[in-house]
Amino acid sequence: MPAALAVTTERPRTSAPATPGVRELLAQGRRTFSFEFFPPKTDSGERTLWAAIRRIEPFAPAFVSVTYGAGGSSRDRTVEVTKRIAAETTLRPVAHLTAVGHSVAELRHIIGQYADAGIRDVLALRGDPPGDPKGEWTAHPEGLTHAHELVTLIRQLGDFTVGVAAFPERHPRSSSWAEDIRHFAGKCKAGADYAITQMFFHAEDYLRLRDRLSSVGCLTPVIPEIMPATDFRQIRRFAELSDARFPDVLARRLEAAKDNPADGHRIGVEYATAMSERLLAEGAPGLHYITLNKSTATLEIHQNLNVSQNSATTITE
Ligand code: FAD
Repeated sequence: MPAALAVTTERPRTSAPATPGVRELLAQGRRTFSFEFFPPKTDSGERTLWAAIRRIEPFAPAFVSVTYGAGGSSRDRTVEVTKRIAAETTLRPVAHLTAVGHSVAELRHIIGQYADAGIRDVLALRGDPPGDPKGEWTAHPEGLTHAHELVTLIRQLGDFTVGVAAFPERHPRSSSWAEDIRHFAGKCKAGADYAITQMFFHAEDYLRLRDRLSSVGCLTPVIPEIMPATDFRQIRRFAELSDARFPDVLARRLEAAKDNPADGHRIGVEYATAMSERLLAEGAPGLHYITLNKSTATLEIHQNLNVSQNSATTITE
């Protein structure tokens, strides 16, 4: 580890997670199944999160990721949850990290904390302005402006596997597809091993993104992110925030079921299962599920796909 890394007093992890690394799995052409959590705000949220983690653990996903908060204490909780997953479970945690509001020295310190805890997987993100995600982006005066710089920084600091974000419907701040693809390719050139997409609801958007990337020679594996749309109100808010196009048919079905959570759940699981099947059939390198810290819907989809117990290694087709 370079001297620049801050060293904490915690004991380093002595054993590696049971599953092979994301980079190795993808390099071998093996599909990854993975789950995303967010850092909880309350004690009861913490209990819900850990119940979900423990339910998902026996399915041996390739990795689980923990999102990075917009600021303050939620960021500390990201670090705590990620380190606890590494120390107390058999899962491989991927730590999301954004450049928002951080100097380079602070970013080095956080990456150092992960290295000390034996965590070698980071999803490198630029992030959005806190408060108003669509507001004007301002970098920290001693910080970074774009995600490719964070990829470079993490790569300089040690042997990390680095993921980045991809946008099947184009990043809302990119003025053209050509610009979007050029900047994505820049993250790959900086050393990204793979990407995870923004959530989307039309499989064609993912397939077109993949075609655009391969047309410029960018073959970095792009893992689709799936959000099970089981709750009409919640999904509408998420789709608005992320600018994802929401299918009219699905919206109508979910709206009709809005007072019957069991129906909404079934509709959302069916849609996400069908989209997952399509993406796998089209050769997606894996699937990454947003859990919202619950496990039921994502595990049902996972089981519907007839994926074997060791999901990181085998899929029955
Ligand atoms: P960048 O790659 O820097 O791109 C941002 C914009 O700048 C794009 O329009 C791009 O085209 C443009 N750009 C890139 N490079 C250049 C350049 N060199 N010159 C000019 N323009 C450039 N946010 C969080 O706060 N916490 C999270 O945990 C989190 N997790 C996420 C996980 C996934 C899978 C995804 C897809 C997004 C996540 N986000 C998260 C949201 C993300 O931070 C925002 O979408 C952010 O706006 C873009 O981040 P980026 O890493 O793609 O940035």
